[in-house]
Amino acid sequence: MKNLIKLQYLYRLKEAGVEYFEGFHSEQQEINMPRELDELKKICLDCTLCDLSKTRSNVVFGEGNPNAKLMFIGEGPGAEENKTGKPFVGRAGKLLTKIITNVLELTREDVYIGNIVKCRPPNNRVPSIEEARTCIPYLLKQIDIINPEILVCLGKTAFMYLMNTDVPISRVRGQIFEFKGKKVIPTFHPSFLLRNPSAKKDAYKDFLLIKGLL
Ligand code: URA
Repeated sequence: MKNLIKLQYLYRLKEAGVEYFEGFHSEQQEINMPRELDELKKICLDCTLCDLSKTRSNVVFGEGNPNAKLMFIGEGPGAEENKTGKPFVGRAGKLLTKIITNVLELTREDVYIGNIVKCRPPNNRVPSIEEARTCIPYLLKQIDIINPEILVCLGKTAFMYLMNTDVPISRVRGQIFEFKGKKVIPTFHPSFLLRNPSAKKDAYKDFLLIKGLL
């Protein structure tokens, strides 16, 4: 009976739009990681904690300014990133670079670019909860060390796994959220913009908002 009441309560919360994965982040694992980006990278490059390590060619740790004010978070490496070990260097990456240069009037070297998972999911599928849960302590430590003021989540997966919430990106894009004292701004993933050019005008507005905060 007690469980039934709990279940009804959870359904009511869900109807009200509240959805989250409780206890998704493992703060404990993050605490045990080194406080130096290079040291963290070394550990990450040897990581075999999930099955993505079996099919990867390279770990894509992330790159950019270790003191960046602005950090981008993507979903996970694609084919080109897996080949090179660098984040956002394929078609979507070229669009991201263009936005950084032309809209933000910055360079890739001014910002930091990371991902939720550091190894390519086969066929570019969305990383599973287990894969994201295993890998996210690396990202959380990167955020802790770099200490950016603004985190830009590129697409639903990045926002969902960072913020423990499952909402359509179209509902949250261009809004400012908070994560550990940092501003979080979700926007469309550049791959989505390549497939849906009509969404570029909304993304442009989001990047103008980001520029205004820098
Ligand atoms: N898409 C991502 O989410 N991350 C990358 O690094 C490349 C493409």
